[in-house]
Amino acid sequence: MYRKLRRLWVPTSSARAGRALRTLLDRLVVPTCAFCGSDDDAWPICRPCRLDLPWVRMACPRCARPLATGQHRSIACGRCQRRPPPFTRAYAPLHYMFPVDAAIRALKFRADLPYAPALAELLVPAVRREAACWDALVPVPLHRWRQALRGFNQAREIATWLSRRVGLPVVELAQRHRRTSPQSTLPARRRRANVCGAFRVRATRPPERILLIDDVMTTGETCGELARVLYSAGVSKIGVACVARATPGSAQAGRAGSNV
Ligand SMILES: [Zn+2]
Ligand SMILES: [Zn+2]
Repeated sequence: MYRKLRRLWVPTSSARAGRALRTLLDRLVVPTCAFCGSDDDAWPICRPCRLDLPWVRMACPRCARPLATGQHRSIACGRCQRRPPPFTRAYAPLHYMFPVDAAIRALKFRADLPYAPALAELLVPAVRREAACWDALVPVPLHRWRQALRGFNQAREIATWLSRRVGLPVVELAQRHRRTSPQSTLPARRRRANVCGAFRVRATRPPERILLIDDVMTTGETCGELARVLYSAGVSKIGVACVARATPGSAQAGRAGSNV
């Protein structure tokens, strides 16, 4: 209905001004799907778009790395069995590929904030299923200079929307006190050194069981380093929830970069 009325109010022939006005109306007047702009179905993402996304069918419960189907879903991958990550659980329901990668980059680099509730919505089923296991959501922090330049932290935006849907509070426990290079620009072996010592905990009595929230995970070194710092501050259980998992070494991973 809104689409029909909009066509009457805003002529589609005029170029830039008409497009801008239509976008503004879409964003302000009617809740539309962040991916296709449809207002026919549920906000913030419609059912057809949701079904079309590159969902991970089977993943390691410890690191969220996609696995070949057929492996038992409660058994950690070989890599985690040889060298377990500091966090005990990881959720990353989507592959970091189109259109999820484009949505994450639009949120981060173009401040396209309507993508925040849509990306958070994609995490809801996984996190809600095990919400009783966690006390709080903790967004991976940006360095304050980067946050000042961008105007927001995308992990915080996703955590805020996710919080409303799963009933867990958002707590900003840590700060990134050292500037780090974007992880996407570094080879895997240098990523741990890049984030080593980058975080500091600023809470004296943190919650016991926390779920770190980020947009994309590649090697997991950023969340791993933050988890190590939080354990030393008294947190007893740490999990990670990222919208998408990039496979280390893939072309997509090269563009991912964790929370930068
Ligand atoms: Zn849609
Ligand atoms: Zn694993």
